[in-house]
Amino acid sequence: MAGAVVEGGRRRRADAGGAAGAGRRPDEQPHRRGTPLMRALECTPTLPGYALARLVGGARGGPFTMLRLAHRPPPELPGEGWVRLRPRLAGICGSDLAALHGHASPYLGALASSPFVPGHEVVADVSEGGGRWSAGARVVVEPLLHCGVRGVVPPCPRCAAGEPQGCESVAGDGLAAGLQSGYCAATGGGWSGEMVAHHSQLHEVPAALDDRDAVMVEPLACALHAVLRNPPAHDDRVLVVGAGTLGLLVVAALRHAARPRRVIAVAKHDGQRRLAARLGADLVCAPAEMLRTVRFETRARLVEGRAVEPFLLGGADLTFECSGTPAGLQGAIGCTRAGGTVVMVGMPGRATIDLAHAWHRELSVRGAYGYGIEAGGGLAVEPPRRTFAIALEAAQALRPGRLVDEPLPLDDYHRALARASSAGSRGLVKVAFAPGEDGG
Ligand SMILES: [Zn+2]
Ligand SMILES: [Zn+2]
Repeated sequence: MAGAVVEGGRRRRADAGGAAGAGRRPDEQPHRRGTPLMRALECTPTLPGYALARLVGGARGGPFTMLRLAHRPPPELPGEGWVRLRPRLAGICGSDLAALHGHASPYLGALASSPFVPGHEVVADVSEGGGRWSAGARVVVEPLLHCGVRGVVPPCPRCAAGEPQGCESVAGDGLAAGLQSGYCAATGGGWSGEMVAHHSQLHEVPAALDDRDAVMVEPLACALHAVLRNPPAHDDRVLVVGAGTLGLLVVAALRHAARPRRVIAVAKHDGQRRLAARLGADLVCAPAEMLRTVRFETRARLVEGRAVEPFLLGGADLTFECSGTPAGLQGAIGCTRAGGTVVMVGMPGRATIDLAHAWHRELSVRGAYGYGIEAGGGLAVEPPRRTFAIALEAAQALRPGRLVDEPLPLDDYHRALARASSAGSRGLVKVAFAPGEDGG
């Protein structure tokens, strides 16, 4: 999972003396004499580390063999227009846990550079200004490392089309490889005392939002992006599979932005079912009840064959798969009607899934990754707006900080990661670090 090599190198950074400058490999740590060290949770993926993490990591925590609490120099400013940040809170995302447990797809490993400091859900103070930002501002980080952030000129075709989440420069043009801050050796991440970000990645946090609300803006933007890009019709029955942070926020986003006829939420744990109902689901059920519930609600026909999991003919018009698990995706395509849409919101990986359902029903199965600029579509965002701007506004109505557990210091990372790994069964949703706090 070392920094990816980009063939051809057709695009260069505008200020070539800047990021990861000439002669330095993107994964090398710069050292500045006399720079005070910072504390950071640093991840160094190795093949034996992956094997061990998969073996002993388990689903419920245990040793995270590729992560350590390091005392290291803060990342250097990669160039003009970059700022230094001191994270106030940094969330633990399911994708972080998948990477640390060795369960994430190798595809993502090829689009990261190491060692990296995780943490892409970040509310921070600007400690050294740049661009239009001065020290002291309280900001959230929009972590995508697209052409605009990387200084790649001209931008790639996807960035030029206003779709930065599909940026083609993420394998290492202009800046070390990384889809997002938190998976890039050059930027650092939120699980540390200090990180750097491009001025265009920052959004000021309105005073009405506390730090816990603010740390949820990134996952809320993911949920809003998924819903705004796949808007339900008013008459639609919408199924949401999985009720971790993303699933719950998709339920909230559906109620906030779309208002379909029915929202059915599938949640493993009692606490998640209560929260899903409170956030606007009309019906909630356990995974074992999903088929029966959707069948009843949509008057679908149940089919039980030999050597196949029972499935429906008929079902939901639109399904958001938010668990990122093979079982979740299999259930989602088995409960969606012919001609319907299944949106993969949770991060999937390698999986064995029977796609005959999707083929026969002419389902649209599509991904929803990150955020960017929302425009048009059934919900007509007019004029086009950044998803983060919409999320910051929605957060003031939804107050998602109520889903955040008491933040923990970096020193307590074993406890924090164990909590996050079994959040649902513990009645928790979002676990976050408070990097400025000393564990003593
Ligand atoms: Zn995430
Ligand atoms: Zn791009």
